[in-house]
Amino acid sequence: MSLRTLFSVFSSDLAIDLGTANTLVYAKGRGIVVNEPSIVALDKNSRKVLAVGRKAKEMLGRTPADIIAVKPMKDGVIADFDVTEVMLKYFIKAAHGRSHLLSPRIIIGIPSEITQVEKRAVQESALRAKASEVYLVEQAIVAAVGAGMPITEAYGNMVVDIGGGTTDIAVISLSGVVYSSSVRVAGNELDDAIIQFIKRKHNLLIGERTAEAIKIQIGSAAALERPMTMEIKGRNLIEGVPRTITVTDEEIREALSDSISVLINAIRVALERTPPELSADIMERGIVLTGGGALLKRFDKRLSSETGLPVFVAEDPLSAVVMGTSKILTDMNLFRRIRVN
Ligand code: ADP
Ligand code: MG
Repeated sequence: MSLRTLFSVFSSDLAIDLGTANTLVYAKGRGIVVNEPSIVALDKNSRKVLAVGRKAKEMLGRTPADIIAVKPMKDGVIADFDVTEVMLKYFIKAAHGRSHLLSPRIIIGIPSEITQVEKRAVQESALRAKASEVYLVEQAIVAAVGAGMPITEAYGNMVVDIGGGTTDIAVISLSGVVYSSSVRVAGNELDDAIIQFIKRKHNLLIGERTAEAIKIQIGSAAALERPMTMEIKGRNLIEGVPRTITVTDEEIREALSDSISVLINAIRVALERTPPELSADIMERGIVLTGGGALLKRFDKRLSSETGLPVFVAEDPLSAVVMGTSKILTDMNLFRRIRVN
């Protein structure tokens, strides 16, 4: 089929952001139709799928011994092919609603670090989920598109996408990646840092979901204008019983401090390795943050003060990748320039 007719006729075409924390699906003409955690709950023995997405996330930390909750896209690589396939199929089906008989063309934003084998696995899973054609694009590039950056120009654009498993840093010019790096310090690592800190300082054991809630509510990368506190529940490690304690924004900032430094350093290194002409552009137009981690309070301020550059958070950082991918469904020129396969 020629490229000209591609993506033109059917309205069942989909754009997918296969993230380590969340999967989003955009259906042409309908907008974002799926936005769910990338989690699958399985029966440990039979490997039968018990729940996918939000329902599976609710089971996290609450599962009996014979149920496991799997995050198949851990750390930006595919940790489990079979489970990734199950999840992708489930979300594609959910996106179709009643029109499940149509074979959509699908564009999937994939992490830049995944291997050829993993790329093929994603592609084949989508084909098995009845996609008629599957195209892959790099998440960093589509994140920049989704954030409204002028990536097709001969101009240096720096985008930092802070997701669940990885933070991806990319410098893009003329629709291509000039520099990219990926660090496994992102949302999940921040949650872990909070768990460890609360354990050390308060002898209290909290779960992943509580840690994430603390991060979202009172977590920050630099001092807040007004102090914040939060009541949290966990299990006291000495007495072995449930306890409620109050934590402050200052404590959580301390808990996050090492991970935040790692992130900022990785961005510094990227700036150092960017060709001079492009860094001049970045100095002028600044760094754009996407991904859920971009919402961490005052991270933009902290990054800006440490690099001396302007820093902007994308308008809707959690949907930048899927919105960028969706633009390709209707922009043939852009599609030709940035498709991977
Ligand atoms: P991925 O692309 O890897 O699926 P997302 O871009 O969906 O990741 O971001 C998910 C991460 O963003 C999670 O770790 C989540 O805890 C974090 N996150 C979401 N909202 C906020 C917030 N307001 N403050 C800090 N972190 C947030
Ligand atoms: Mg992402």
